[in-house]
Formats: sequence, C-alpha cells, structure tokens
Amino acid sequence: MVRVNVANIKNCCNDLPECQDHKARMDMLEKSHNSIKKNVGTKTLIEKITRWHHERNLINGSTDKDQFAKLIQEAGELSDSICKDKNVSDDIGDMIVVLINIAERNGLSIGECLETAWNDIRDRKGKMIDGVFVKEGD
Ligand SMILES: [Mg+2]
Repeated sequence: MVRVNVANIKNCCNDLPECQDHKARMDMLEKSHNSIKKNVGTKTLIEKITRWHHERNLINGSTDKDQFAKLIQEAGELSDSICKDKNVSDDIGDMIVVLINIAERNGLSIGECLETAWNDIRDRKGKMIDGVFVKEGD
C-alpha cells in the first residue's frame, strides 16, 4: 500500500491551476478520511457504552421510566451548565449515554433513531420566532 503525505502534496506547487484542483481534491479526501475516522470512533464508543450498560445490569435491571428520570436529571445538569456558561460536553455526553440505554432496551440503535429523526425533519419548513423554530402549520 502506498502512503501519501497529504501535507507535502498540498504545498508542492501552489501556483499551477491543475495543482490547485489537485489540492482541492486532496483536501476533500483528507476531510472524508477524518469523517470516516470520527464515525468509526463514535460507533466504537456507542458499542462500549452499550456493553457498559449490560455489564452493570442497567438494561434488564432498569426500566425506560427509570432511565427517562435519569435523562431529565442530566438535562437539568445541561441547563445548569448553559445558564452558568460552563462547558456542556460532559452534560451532552451523559444525556446520550442515557439515550443509548433507552434505545438498547427498545431494540434500537442511536443511528436508527437519528435516521428516523433526520427523515422527519430534513424537509421541514417553518420560521424562527424568538430563537425557536416553529414548524409550518403549528
Ligand atoms: Mg451528568
């Protein structure tokens, strides 16, 4: 397998138009590669978190209602961080962890849930009113 150092190619001949085009392709390739790496990382993390839930008996030993209460607790922590202008990364992550739990108990994957939601919203029309998107017809 031939390994190409994208950084070296990008700086080889900036003045030539064909090289600009080549650079654009290489940038696109690099972005695509980074996106694939991120997706694999996210998929692996979701699998680890799902296993973590099973190992701690949080799937069979808990309920959707219990986990929904936990989700709202985590939402409160997110609200607190937003109000105090703190970093929200842990709070968002905690909420996703709980959502993974509920999805697993219902035989769903986060990917399926996101795809369902995306199909629902992608063509949605509406307008912004005071920072809130109001769906057409609401
Ligand atoms: Mg938390």
